[in-house]
Amino acid sequence: MWGSGTIQSTSGEESIVSLSNGNVIKVSTSQLLPANPGILEGVNDLIQLSYLNEPSVLHNLKRRYSHDMIYSKAGPVLIAVNPFKDVQIYGKDFVTSYREKATDSPHVFAIADNAYNEMMNEFHNLNLSCSGETGAGKTETAKFAMQYLASLGGGYGGKECKILQTHCILEAFGNAKTSRNDSSSRFVSSSSPLSFAHCSLLKGKLIDIHFTALGKISGANIQTCKHVLLEKVSSCHSSTLYQVLSLLSCIVSDVDFFVTFEQSRVVQLAAGERSYHIFYQLCAGAPPALRERLNLKMANEYNYLVQSDCLVINGVDDGQKFQKLKEAFDIVQICKEEQEQVFAMLAAVLWLGNISFQVTDKENHVEALADEALTSVATLIGCAPHELMQAISTHRIQVGKDSIAKKLTLQQAIDTRDALAKFIYASLFDWLVEQINNSLEAGKKHIGRSISIIDIYGFESLKKNSFEQFCINYANERLQQHFNRHLFKLEQEEYDLEGIDWTKVVFEDNQECLDLFEKKPLGILSLLDEESNAPNSTDFTLANKLKQHLNSNSYFKGDRGRAFGVLHFAGEVLYDTNGFLDKNRDPLSSEVVQLLSSCDGQLPQLFAKKMFNQPLQSVTSLDTPMQSVALQFKGQLFKLMHQLESTRSHFICCIKPNSKQLPGTYEEDLVLQQLRCYGIFEVIRISRSGYPTRMTHQAFTERYGFLLSEPIVSQDPLSISVALLKQFNVLPQMYQIGYTKVFLRTGQISALEDRRKQV
Ligand code: ATP
Ligand code: MG
Repeated sequence: MWGSGTIQSTSGEESIVSLSNGNVIKVSTSQLLPANPGILEGVNDLIQLSYLNEPSVLHNLKRRYSHDMIYSKAGPVLIAVNPFKDVQIYGKDFVTSYREKATDSPHVFAIADNAYNEMMNEFHNLNLSCSGETGAGKTETAKFAMQYLASLGGGYGGKECKILQTHCILEAFGNAKTSRNDSSSRFVSSSSPLSFAHCSLLKGKLIDIHFTALGKISGANIQTCKHVLLEKVSSCHSSTLYQVLSLLSCIVSDVDFFVTFEQSRVVQLAAGERSYHIFYQLCAGAPPALRERLNLKMANEYNYLVQSDCLVINGVDDGQKFQKLKEAFDIVQICKEEQEQVFAMLAAVLWLGNISFQVTDKENHVEALADEALTSVATLIGCAPHELMQAISTHRIQVGKDSIAKKLTLQQAIDTRDALAKFIYASLFDWLVEQINNSLEAGKKHIGRSISIIDIYGFESLKKNSFEQFCINYANERLQQHFNRHLFKLEQEEYDLEGIDWTKVVFEDNQECLDLFEKKPLGILSLLDEESNAPNSTDFTLANKLKQHLNSNSYFKGDRGRAFGVLHFAGEVLYDTNGFLDKNRDPLSSEVVQLLSSCDGQLPQLFAKKMFNQPLQSVTSLDTPMQSVALQFKGQLFKLMHQLESTRSHFICCIKPNSKQLPGTYEEDLVLQQLRCYGIFEVIRISRSGYPTRMTHQAFTERYGFLLSEPIVSQDPLSISVALLKQFNVLPQMYQIGYTKVFLRTGQISALEDRRKQV
């Protein structure tokens, strides 16, 4: 990487440099980059650096980080470097000092405060969007932003407290320990008819907080980008029903609240990772009477939980968390009876994993064992053990007019059992989200002011990338475009439109890469869709088809067997098509839903009913063409983008300084890679040459016009703006007058605001 030093001599192409550690080295002169003067050490905003280069930015962030100044600005973007320890900067005193604008040190509170004031002054709906890779601190940052907004908007009977409590619940049910983050958000969405299938990744979460005209919190609404990825339950299910999803169509306002998550985690764990926190919390924290009612054991007695050899998280007391969770349930008004039902569903999921099968004939057909596990599940969901046994050991096939029950093979039975577990958990999660939304929104009408906090999953490039990464990265490509457009393109266009003088900044747009995905009929998504519906298609035929049509595209690399590469904004990723077609199709069986609908339990019945009521649920045969999961995902993504584009965005870029979750460790290459990936250098470049503050002449004169010491002849807003700027001696290089707006450099508006307050 880089080191800082002083040039001692230069001769020709080479320079002798003495490094700050005392060593003297010879380097090629062209490799030297200018460092910034000492007075600029650790500046708040990177746009203030005299020399803008990668090592200067890295050095500045590192220097701040080592003093626990984890926040910095890059023009309009807030950079948050994860401290991996408690930094004492979120207390009441900090809230007060940002509220009173007693400090201008960058902070998530400052961004939230800004957003709040903008919303109040200009009637905007705003969004704060947190980006960054897994473990970078998106969820934590979103929580702090919410904490601040809750304290500003508080005052309506504890609603703010409720909003914060929802975190505790969502985290228990939607977060899990992964190899890269002890509490990684894994949700996507769930109230989908697809819940049987294997949903293997999580997308973003979006929390809207609504405000009244007086700026008090009136309610909140949580949505999450719904994303379902499927795995065939079993290829032998000839009676499998296919369903077309309303998948992403539900993201926008008419549906209250939408959540999907990584369902596969309920039944399948990678070594060293855990399932959702709630299972361990329940097992560790349930009081004796509840344990007895649910026939609950400790976590190490459940197959679903022991498989990964990881039952505890260092420094986390699951039992204690369970008590907190129950308090949160009380606060969001989930009554004791409902809580008990929730716990019963969780216990049922755990016991499902312990159900085993015995082979009954030579063809490997099986039957579930009538043991404690089977009877426990049956009791918990409210059906007879033999009904449960039937549902997970057989499937019905149509023979002429009759349907007959056929025994499943071992693998099919396991898949069916696991599908049931995933379905119950997914439905439960959905139901909870609905309850929370009802509780938050109760009796309050949304009047059109809101701040959305978006916690979005970051770009992924793993050793082996599959359909999940393909979808995640496609989503990120879109989000990156939103970011680009918002910060760069729109700015530039606006300057042009206003006829002001401005050095053009060239920036990279990723439209071409998006076209590679989205073009019809020859984009990856369309081709994937086509191949998913073609008879006899395989992962190889898919790879070949992609190569055949896309090889000439410079963002596509198709020359590697079954794999193909995409040149993303954040780097090239190689995808293995293995499993793409299966995950992209949408198979599921109806036996278990039938079972649930006939259960005594209130929740199982409700879950089944919802499943049957899905508006777009259509039963089609295997050979009817249907839309692929990826295309439906695209539809959802577009809706989210539309929603983002219709509001004003503020960006928080979360940076992970090391991959070991350690405090005080700053790995330069890792940080650099993230800064590049999110285009931070570009942001700084454009902000340095731009005028970040702008107001219409009308708004400007309305706000500051009364400060004019002498009335001017002309009453048009433009003339008044000019007169105001003159009166306050704003230097000519600090502003520009556009046709309809005043443009100001960073820092100017606060000076005007101060004058305004003094009057
Ligand atoms: P994922 O995409 O996996 O959900 P994430 O970006 O949401 O990851 P977080 O869960 O917010 O990551 O953060 C990971 C961990 O980093 C937290 O559990 C916490 O220990 C630490 N952390 C993040 N931000 C802060 C902060 N501002 N102060 C203290 N610790 C923090
Ligand atoms: Mg998270």
